[in-house]
Amino acid sequence: MTKNERLIQELSELDKKHFLHPISPIKQQQEDGAAFIFTEGKGVHLYDLNGNCYIDGMSSLWNVNVGHGREELGKTAMEQMQKLAYSSNFSTFSNEPAIRLSAKLAQIAPKGLSATFFASGGSEANDTAYKLVRNYWLLKGKPSKKKIISQTKSYHGVSMGATSTGLKPYREFTNSLAPDFCYVEHFSAQALRELIETEGADTIAAFISEPVQGAGGVHIAPENYFKEVREICDEYEILFITDEVITAFGRTGKDFGIEHYGVTPDVMCFAKGVTSGYLPLGGVMLSEEIHQDFIELSEGTMLHGYTYSGHPTACAVGLKNIEMIENENLTENAKVMGKEMLNGFNWLKSNLEIIGEVRGLGLMGAIEIVKDQVTQEKFDSPVSPLIVGEAAKRGLICRSVIFDGQDTLVFAPPLIINKTEIEEMTSILYDSILAVERQMVQTK
Ligand code: PMP
Repeated sequence: MTKNERLIQELSELDKKHFLHPISPIKQQQEDGAAFIFTEGKGVHLYDLNGNCYIDGMSSLWNVNVGHGREELGKTAMEQMQKLAYSSNFSTFSNEPAIRLSAKLAQIAPKGLSATFFASGGSEANDTAYKLVRNYWLLKGKPSKKKIISQTKSYHGVSMGATSTGLKPYREFTNSLAPDFCYVEHFSAQALRELIETEGADTIAAFISEPVQGAGGVHIAPENYFKEVREICDEYEILFITDEVITAFGRTGKDFGIEHYGVTPDVMCFAKGVTSGYLPLGGVMLSEEIHQDFIELSEGTMLHGYTYSGHPTACAVGLKNIEMIENENLTENAKVMGKEMLNGFNWLKSNLEIIGEVRGLGLMGAIEIVKDQVTQEKFDSPVSPLIVGEAAKRGLICRSVIFDGQDTLVFAPPLIINKTEIEEMTSILYDSILAVERQMVQTK
């Protein structure tokens, strides 16, 4: 056994015994051990302990927007840590990176959003949004407005409030949810209106939606959907929250996903791409109007805040990361490369039997796997996980979405990706899907 093989074996055993992985098949971990132990990242590539190289077709968790191994971010973190790694922001304490990042966000965010409450990730950001909108209605003298409406295919995270919104399988993981959440069919303005009528607008605080549903299978809203949502929210005095945790900071080919739809939310949550994952950071932005209401109506202390709200080092890295996205025109690159990626998917569709619909907006994309291209009938058991396995063998990491009867491959490569790398992704996918088709013919 080589030294490296011994290391892999040792880590794999420790992993099984001690490391509870997030969102993972716990039995499979015990059987297979850690399939990939990553050691290094450079650009769009990840390297593992076996020395294999992969295109990170998911930007890891939709977040490594500027790509891996960016020394500028390491340098920024080191300098900030050496100067002031951390200090409290409770009460009137503050720090320069948090102040500057909140000002920068106000400058680039959809019009009207002006003030930021920081958290450490997407779930915390969404829970914060739910609490803030409820507090807002309390202050406005409407304490009955407390329900939060979310969509059946949306994903907002796994903290108690976030789990209580969005995808059903995540809600069913725990047998008790937070109260005052309700659910509506995704992308149906009519269903939203009906739900509000049934529940009573005076009981509803807010409606939350991702501009493009990510973890739910990369579903892109119809063109008019958010305009109708905005009108409905205004009509019934309901706050509109967009969850831009995936879609912000260039991912969809615009700075923020909601910009594709020409509307502005009252509240916007972000995380992931704000630091490209180099440090944990998230937040909630409020419209200037809501911010002003809080200032006027609040008495005493706002009793919500995390130890790491406005973490100086995370905020310094966030600022640098946004500067890199701007200086390197990565939002534009996401738009152009997104089209290349979608062209690639369409080429695959016309050359392979088992591809149904393909979708994409910027560098978020999806390929539906079907038994029959004409009827869009699905296979009895999902095939996309087999393709994910074959793709990994050939050096591409992507993800499959199989709940709700879906059989979908999803993609979100780093925004720095170039045409050659997109072509490589397409070519690996072609070989992987062909290999799976052949296996299926053999086992028929
Ligand atoms: N909202 C959306 C749209 C997400 O995609 C995610 C994470 N995939 C979250 C919220 C939760 O973020 P976190 O995992 O950082 O808590």
